[in-house]
Amino acid sequence: MISFLRRALSFPHGVHPPDSKDLTSGVPIRRMPFPGEVVLPLRQNAGVPARLLVKPGDRVERGDKIGEAQGFMSVPVHASVAGVVDQIELRPHPDGSMAEAVVIKVDRHSPQIPRPRLVPYWEGLSPDQVREAVKDAGVVGLGGAAFPTHVKLVPPKEVSIDLLIVNGAECEPYLTSDHRVMVEHPERVHFGIRVMMQCLGVERAVIGVERNKIDGLEALERTLPGDLDITIQPLRVKYPQGAEKMLIQSLTRREVPSGKLPLHAGVVVQNVGSIAAIAEVFETGYPLIERIVTVTGPGLRRPSNLVVPVGTRVRDAIAFCGGLTEDAREVVFGGPMMGASQSDLDAPILKGTSGVVVLVRDQVAPGTVLPCISCGHCLDACPVFLNPSALGKLAQAGRYREMTEEYHLADCMLCGSCSYVCPSHIPLSQMFALSKGALRREQERAKRAEVVAGGETSSKVRLA
Ligand code: SF4
Ligand code: SF4
Repeated sequence: MISFLRRALSFPHGVHPPDSKDLTSGVPIRRMPFPGEVVLPLRQNAGVPARLLVKPGDRVERGDKIGEAQGFMSVPVHASVAGVVDQIELRPHPDGSMAEAVVIKVDRHSPQIPRPRLVPYWEGLSPDQVREAVKDAGVVGLGGAAFPTHVKLVPPKEVSIDLLIVNGAECEPYLTSDHRVMVEHPERVHFGIRVMMQCLGVERAVIGVERNKIDGLEALERTLPGDLDITIQPLRVKYPQGAEKMLIQSLTRREVPSGKLPLHAGVVVQNVGSIAAIAEVFETGYPLIERIVTVTGPGLRRPSNLVVPVGTRVRDAIAFCGGLTEDAREVVFGGPMMGASQSDLDAPILKGTSGVVVLVRDQVAPGTVLPCISCGHCLDACPVFLNPSALGKLAQAGRYREMTEEYHLADCMLCGSCSYVCPSHIPLSQMFALSKGALRREQERAKRAEVVAGGETSSKVRLA
């Protein structure tokens, strides 16, 4: 039976925001011309940032390493253009901070063409060599968190993995880069799955795709390799269908225990774009130096799916898309549900930037925040069955410990479903993000105090 005729699977709770994908879902991916400069922060992955390898004035070619990985939870950063290192300085980072970045002036006279391959051919490599090559190529998850991909390819010995789940849900409104990858490069997705299955030693893979991407489902089905056990499974269109825990539940009915990882449910989850990126580095021989990104929203004149060099400033991508409309008000990296508003259009598009959405006045006008009316809508929306109403009241009172110990704040994935349904416009998920930050700082302070106390004790002992 053709997969898209199968019953669409789902998970309990969740919400149904308008998907707003029609702006770009039918727009083919095209390459943006090289901008005048790129900005490459050394902090582009979850874990430890890369260590600087270049200095101002250095000539670099596309794919040259400019930042070295520091340990296991780290990946290198590569020059995404041929040119000259202009500056190394603090530049706006999409997370709102200033971060050390390498600024490269693009060589206008360089053909920017591929050089001899920097990543080995995949055929004949052992799983360990594949992991090493993936790490050296600087591959991270492209769905937002930028988790180093090679780490997912080395599951701890004590867990047993029997399934690879490929996340093609792309449930955030507006974003369509994964959709277009499935439509235009389905063989690349299958090749990436082959590489991951071989590395993980798993026999089975399932690709979950929301039903609003029928042409993506068809393309994957049409190109299915005959020698791999891959199932293509349609999913209900519901937010946050693409959250790892929700996806695992929808596709397998397995539950990831509280505080644990998908590994503990016997699965590894990787999103479609990231899988295609693994395939691409082996196909082209290039490290991860460019990515496909949706640049869209009602505040943009020509919404597009673009291939851009990593480090392209969002200002340049917006200009290439015809510029902002008069009522444009907010530029968000990621989608409108979980994305981060940008205060500086010089922030660069990084490896983990899945989309840029420009919202208009009506979409960002803050509703007046009213008191909680105990309607329970947020409880019905929360996909992990938390009590956002109670958590919100504790957050307002700064009672962070209770939020964690009694109301499981750690399980909140900041999906924004509760804020979306709240008729009182209480910014619940934003409050939870701040609470998590406050808790983290409190724990760090406590740890530092312990170290100081330990130091004092040992010096007293020495003195005695
Ligand atoms: S943001 Fe947290 S509390 Fe709110 S719905 Fe999502 S997981 Fe539940
Ligand atoms: S949705 Fe808003 S008003 Fe309703 S219970 Fe939750 S926090 Fe209160």
